[in-house]
Formats: sequence, structure tokens, C-alpha cells
Amino acid sequence: MPRQPVSRQSAPRLSEVVAALENLWPAERAESWDAVGTVVGDPDQDVTRVLFAVDPVQEIVDEAVKLGADLLVTHHPLYLRGTTTVAASTFKGRVVHTLIKHDIALHVAHTNADRADPGVSDALAGALDLRVVRPLVPDPTDPDGRRGLGRVCELDHPLTVRELAARAAERLPATAQGIRVAGDPDALVRTVAVSGGSGDSLFDDVRAAGVDAFLTADLRHHPVSEARAHSPLALLDAAHWATEWPWCELAAAQLDEISDREGWDLRVHVSKTVTDPWTAHAASSATPDPLGAPN
Ligand SMILES: [Zn+2]
Repeated sequence: MPRQPVSRQSAPRLSEVVAALENLWPAERAESWDAVGTVVGDPDQDVTRVLFAVDPVQEIVDEAVKLGADLLVTHHPLYLRGTTTVAASTFKGRVVHTLIKHDIALHVAHTNADRADPGVSDALAGALDLRVVRPLVPDPTDPDGRRGLGRVCELDHPLTVRELAARAAERLPATAQGIRVAGDPDALVRTVAVSGGSGDSLFDDVRAAGVDAFLTADLRHHPVSEARAHSPLALLDAAHWATEWPWCELAAAQLDEISDREGWDLRVHVSKTVTDPWTAHAASSATPDPLGAPN
């Protein structure tokens, strides 16, 4: 018997896609200092191709142009504060010009995506095969206690700090930085807190959670030194971009599912361009490699 003709798919309008994104990551859940939502775009324009990326930098916008994307969704905001110019002679103004010239909308989901369930740190935990137990800093407005910043995770099989670092280096996208470690490489890790992006404001919560390790990005000398002095907590520091990139894949899959449900004619892509600003790493020649496999 011939199949019923599938109902004709049509491209959604930007306003419809943005409504779906806002439903996943409501703007009111962003931190008060944040700047999320639609930065560029005509609500009535059709959207047939979406590109997800961490950073709204020129390289990514050029990729969106090449791909023929109508919508770029990024984790980081383009403008965090007000501006008086979008002249193409400025770094960000050039991004705005390229987007508008090519009819590409830009939408940002930042701390609202951090706090979502699932959110940025769930994607990070998922990439490392960690079982999420609860948010590290629960959102007090969530009666179910599932939303919030960072995640406290358990490992089904304990790993040494060395093995956990190796797993992070293998599973997260490659960057010049790799994974920096503070702590005994042979210590066993059963519980680990993770937070995509800069995590060193979360040390008090990490200590209170009583975990064996903390994996995040952008850790600084003094907070690390202090945290190490007070507890055997192991610290793993990955590149900021690498800790947030897994969210792009999660978010793209979420939008894909919505698109299927709605019967939209929409292609969803994830940028693999490394936009971590650090581009090279020179290991000090005279240091031993304590993370190398023991002989
Ligand atoms: Zn970030």
C-alpha cells in the first residue's frame, strides 16, 4: 500500500525558532549582568539552516556565511555591555555587518543555558561519561532542584586523577592548552564537580560538596593555591572553549528534535572550528611528566 504523502515540511520563521530556543533557555534565567537573546535578525525571515558555536567571532560568522546558515546560535554574547558603534572598522561591528549583509540572525544563550536542565555542565559531564547527581549550585527558583550552575557527578568506576585527566584530554575537543592538573595524580576520584567555562568563583561550593576533584576552566594561581592548601581536592583545568563546546552538540540535538516534532524543514549544524584564543603550548623542557603513565 502506498504510504500516505508526508505532510509538506516548511521552513520556520526566525520568531518560531527563537520561541523554541527561549523555551529551552528562558532569558529570565540568565544572570542579571548577562546579555542573552536575539542580537541580530528579522523575526519574519525564514530559517533553513542553523549553526551552533561557542563564540560569535568573525571566523565563525564567515563559517555561517559559507554554510548558507540563516541563524547562528552562540553561547557567548557578542556585546555584554552597551555600545555606541557597530562600525565595520571595529571587531564586533564587523561581525554585525557580515551577519546583516548575509541575512544571518544571531541568538545568544549564555548563563540561561548554564543553568538549564540539561545545560552546559550536563553536556560536559556527558562528554566525560560522568553520572550527574545534582547541580553544584542549585537554582533556588527550581522546585525540582535540577537546574543550577555546575554539576556534582559520580564515576561508576573510580579513576585516578591521571586517568580522569587523560579521559578529559581524549574526550574534549583538542586545544593547545590540553588539561592542567593540580593534585596527586594517583589519588582516586569517585566524585567530581564539573562546570563549563570559568569556574573559580565556585570553590566554596565545590568544597561544600565534598567531591574528590573539580574540572572546569580559567583557574587562577591564588584560588588554586588556596584550595590546594585546605584540602586534597584535585583540580583539572581545561580550555574554556573546550569545556563549553559539548553544549553546542547537546543544543543542536535539542533543536533537531523540536524541528522533527514541528515538521520544520531545518538543518542543524555544529561548528568544529576551535575558537579557543590560545593557539600553541610549549612544555618546559626540564620538567618531569608526572601525568605520564607510571613505569
Ligand atoms: Zn564561557
